[in-house]
Parts: sequence; C-alpha cells; structure tokens
Amino acid sequence: MRRETTAELTEAQFHRYARHLILDEVGEEGQERLLQSRALVVGAGGLGSPLLLYLAAAGVGTLGIIDHDRVDLTNLQRQIVHATARIGMLKVESAREAVAAVNPEIRVETHAAAFTAANAPSILAGYDIVADGSDNFRTRYLLSDACLAARKPLVAAALAPFDGQLSTFKPYLGAGHPCYRCLFREAPPEDMVPRCSTAGILGAVAGVLGTLQAVEVLKELLGIGESLSGTLLMYDALRADFQRIRIPKDPACPSCGTG
Ligand SMILES: [Zn+2]
Repeated sequence: MRRETTAELTEAQFHRYARHLILDEVGEEGQERLLQSRALVVGAGGLGSPLLLYLAAAGVGTLGIIDHDRVDLTNLQRQIVHATARIGMLKVESAREAVAAVNPEIRVETHAAAFTAANAPSILAGYDIVADGSDNFRTRYLLSDACLAARKPLVAAALAPFDGQLSTFKPYLGAGHPCYRCLFREAPPEDMVPRCSTAGILGAVAGVLGTLQAVEVLKELLGIGESLSGTLLMYDALRADFQRIRIPKDPACPSCGTG
C-alpha cells in the first residue's frame, strides 16, 4: 500500500491538512500518502455517509463509490451524505456533490451498479482498500471473498437498531488474520435478516460505526496504530458500551483456510 511519494503539498493543502501535518503519526509524508490513496466505499448509505465525508475531509485522494440506489426521503434520517434537495438523485451522484462541497480536490469514481461476482475483480483492482457499508449479507460475503482473492484490506461494519460491529479483514496475511467467513461461516437465510430499510435504526448509531470505519481506513492507509484484523469491536448504544473479542482464524474456513 505504501508508495514512493513525489508530489509536494501545495500552499492550500498545507492549510487544509494543517491539523494532520502537525501529528508525528501523519505529517507531510502521511498526508501525501493519503492524497495518493484510493479507497472504495461500498454503499452510500448510513455507514457510507460518514465514511465518505471523513475520508474526503482527510484528503484520501480518490474515492470510489458503489451504489445502485436513488436518494429517498426515508434515507435522510441517517444517510447524512445526502440532502433533501437531492431526493430522487442517484446516491453516487448525490454523494459526489457532498464530497465536492467538503473537498473539491478529491477524485470521485462512481459505480452506479450492484456489486456482483462478475464486476468485483475489475472494480477492486483499482483500489488500495475497501470499506463495506452495505446492508445485506449477499454483498458482505461477496466482498469478503473478492477482497481475499484481490489481497485488499477490508474494513467492514454491520448495524442493528441500537448496536453495531466492526472489524478489519486481511486474511491474505496468514496466521492471526481471519476473514469474515471465519467469524460467520454462512449467511443466514434472507428472510431471517432484518435490514435498516425494514427494521429501523437509531440514525446516529450508523454514524458512530461509519465514523469508526473511517478511522480504521485511515489507520490502515497510514500504517499507524493497531489494526483491527483479528478483533471484532462491538458497540452497544443503549448501554453506551464497547467490547472487543478476538476472532480466531478457522483452519477449516472455506474461504481462507489451509485445511
Ligand atoms: Zn476465513
């Protein structure tokens, strides 16, 4: 993920990213790395909204956005990248406008399509890291397998009405690095899974998890701190409680196992 950085920061960039530049953990080198980074956000919804806004604000130079949906009035209770005036617009285009308003120097690549096994390899090939903000198990398992095959780090979050989970998956690194299937082998049947669209959610809970995802994406891109790979972070909003559990790598995992 690290590349030679040759680009010099402009005067405006020195001001825009001043609070990053004074950090030893980021600095000029880290900021230049972020500006050259390419992150893919799958889903411009409740998780994707804070993800896109914070990654754009942080100066992640290229943001890919996949979403086939259009902005609906019921989305606005939690999907803060969209706006009332943009109801009916493709979510990827609405998100592009929001990103440009925060930071016009970010390149936005829109994919107004569903993520499928057929288009996954070619889309993933263009990015350094992937953030899963999807709301369905089909996409979640597809992303897990496709990111493993493409050897791309995957920062994934999932939501329930008052809680959420977060982890980073880098199973291609081997021992100590499980994949999503090591944690949950198979997807539950479709009709057993309530989605935000039907089950309801306290909107700000999506904001907490999407913001945590943005932090983990930035850490992975910068190579700082402790990666969440091998750990599941769980947030319980009603109890205002965080818990961490270790996720063991499953030697018999159908996706990343060696057995
Ligand atoms: Zn696995």
